[in-house]
Amino acid sequence: MKLVFATQNLNKLKEVQALMPQGIELLSLAQIGCHAELPETRDSIEGNAIQKAEFVYENFGFNCFADDTGLEVFALNGEPGVYSARYAGVEADADANMDKLLNALRNKDNRKAQFITVIALIINGELRKFSGICKGEILISRQGEKGFGYDPIFKPEGFDLSFAQMDLKDKNNISHRGRSIRQLVEFLGNLL
Ligand code: IMP
Repeated sequence: MKLVFATQNLNKLKEVQALMPQGIELLSLAQIGCHAELPETRDSIEGNAIQKAEFVYENFGFNCFADDTGLEVFALNGEPGVYSARYAGVEADADANMDKLLNALRNKDNRKAQFITVIALIINGELRKFSGICKGEILISRQGEKGFGYDPIFKPEGFDLSFAQMDLKDKNNISHRGRSIRQLVEFLGNLL
């Protein structure tokens, strides 16, 4: 079965490709001739995942899935959440986003946070959702150089390292994305 991963991020595509069960041929957006920027205008993580998958299914007719992730900080009522990528502005990079978050938490005792990933899968017009959560806390300052996004300031529960101090394999074992992808893979495996 051909299945499109609706992402422009080639690193994600490669990572997920390696995990797919036999019998699934994973296609990129470029392979189906989709060069448009996917719409992400909903006000929730789940809404954005569904919107991206629906866009591909409706415009290109392929079975597909899309993911969306956000970092929810409890003391900030769930912010940056769906706005994680552009917390400090549309042009902001990861450093600016982390600085804004560290600043917002400067006088807060509660530094608990969680990453959440939602995957929306559309197969023959039917929608399925999978989600993965990784609980943890926001550090006082950056630790580690690996990873991306908020990794240097996120310490997963039960570990003394930030995500940016972990090897990718170890991060994937416990991460929001790893958890949601394993559910997707299990579901697809049972379909074949
Ligand atoms: P996306 O939906 O996967 O593009 O994620 C949205 C934003 O959340 C990214 O731009 C990052 O800022 C942040 N993010 C997502 N996943 C991670 C992660 O594993 N570590 C750190 N930041 C992440």
